[in-house]
Amino acid sequence: MRPNPHQWNVAGHSGVVRVRYKIYGDRVDGTYLAVDTTHAHINMPAALMWARGLEERPASVRFDLPPGQGWRVATQLYPSEAPHTFTAPNLQYLLDSPVELSAFMLRTFATSDLASGRQRPTFRLALHHYGTEAEADRLAADTEKIVRQSHAIFGEYPEYDAGTYTFIADYLPYASGDGMEHRNSTILSSSGALRDARQRKRLLGTIAHEFFHCWNVERIRPRSLEPFDFERANMSGELWLAEGFTSYYDGVILHRAGLWSLEETLADLAQTINTVAFSSGRQVRSAEQMSQQAPFIDAARSVDRTNRSSTFISYYRWGAAIGLGLDLTLRERSGGAVTLDDFMRAMWRSHGKSGERVPGRVGRPYDIAEVRELLGEVAGDRAFADAFFERYIQGREVVDYAALLEQAGLVLRKRAPGRAYLGNVRLDFGEDGATLESLAPFGSPIYAAGLEQDDVLVSLDDDPITSTAQMTAFLESHRPGDRVTVVFRRRDGRRVQAALTLAEEPWLELVPDEQTGRSLGDAERAFREAWLGGAGR
Ligand SMILES: [Zn+2]
Repeated sequence: MRPNPHQWNVAGHSGVVRVRYKIYGDRVDGTYLAVDTTHAHINMPAALMWARGLEERPASVRFDLPPGQGWRVATQLYPSEAPHTFTAPNLQYLLDSPVELSAFMLRTFATSDLASGRQRPTFRLALHHYGTEAEADRLAADTEKIVRQSHAIFGEYPEYDAGTYTFIADYLPYASGDGMEHRNSTILSSSGALRDARQRKRLLGTIAHEFFHCWNVERIRPRSLEPFDFERANMSGELWLAEGFTSYYDGVILHRAGLWSLEETLADLAQTINTVAFSSGRQVRSAEQMSQQAPFIDAARSVDRTNRSSTFISYYRWGAAIGLGLDLTLRERSGGAVTLDDFMRAMWRSHGKSGERVPGRVGRPYDIAEVRELLGEVAGDRAFADAFFERYIQGREVVDYAALLEQAGLVLRKRAPGRAYLGNVRLDFGEDGATLESLAPFGSPIYAAGLEQDDVLVSLDDDPITSTAQMTAFLESHRPGDRVTVVFRRRDGRRVQAALTLAEEPWLELVPDEQTGRSLGDAERAFREAWLGGAGR
């Protein structure tokens, strides 16, 4: 009997049921299934049936590989004596264990704890790509740098369940860009290639992000996601910490590892600040509330149009902005004695180092009240933690980044002071005007003038606007505060004339003192080094 689209009930059996099924998949990413002549790329929840009531039983999986292709198996599943046969101690672990079957390139390295040398996990990198062996070597070397800098933040590695951590990378022209964290492995997929320097930097960013998750999320885990319920949407108000702080750290780690230049790191931080400071979504929801939107966002988009571009800010970016603001604030108020690294270590000790040793389970997940309390302990000031949460996490205020960044000898300033601005909107220029391809953000000049998505902006002060060049010329010949006449055609064909007051382009850039003609002071240099300098570099 089939009571719903994803369930089969089997009645009248003797206690043994054998189910055979075929499944089709052609999406290479961190969620779905892809099988083709080059590989089988398996995310278990997209591929496996399971039986309710048997969740705690161990499972065994055998892969029959196509002969003569040189395929191997990369997975965090436990190896066994039998060829290509693996086990999982329970259903949660089984579903958490993606598998790549292909003729991938394999690199391994071991590192030990910097201080105690107690733990010596083995790291494996399984790389399925159309690049060279030399690119694989270089990727493994860079991954090792990322691993070491991440370790320096927490002071120890998690106890990986089978003693190893596996990076599974599919960099293929037909892959979708993604990264998915698991307890002892990650799936990294991209259509980017390692030979392209810019794409390579982005791929390293995803490696740093997903590896940080082996602490933050996979073990330091919000109660709202533990255990993960595979039968319904899981809502968490803590993704600003789980994803956002991870995003803050992936950039910091790449810089500490010497893989991103100061310029690249600052550009990323400026983009984070711009997104949070100037997105109209901040008028609608807090970072906690944005986190709760995840079931509508991450790999689950609505097919009809929504107002999301005006009402939503990514909890990755907003959380990264909170991480940056909190790190700099902690350093400021303690004279450098307390940092966000201390807070992450405290979270690790209180919640991540689980007393419970069930693979696939987290013994002491956190809730938001516990995070707040722990921040108070780390900062030595409960009132500070309460205020920070109320204003920046559960409220909608933005940290004063300019003042905080000055400590590191960094200037946060307008990128184009005095440049006239219509609003952050995507325009498609054509013969009869510029079509708004996105929503007009709340509070922007075009929004105030009454334009909306799909409207065609025909002219500004009688100048026709049919190309980027015309738009640029118009903005350059005007000043913020100028009042102009806009003519536009609504999507129902009506022609409208309205007054529009130009604003000033808001975007900020982050520039080191030494590039502004000033010299970098000793205190600022020391602050910057303590913050962005790497361990043991
Ligand atoms: Zn993430």
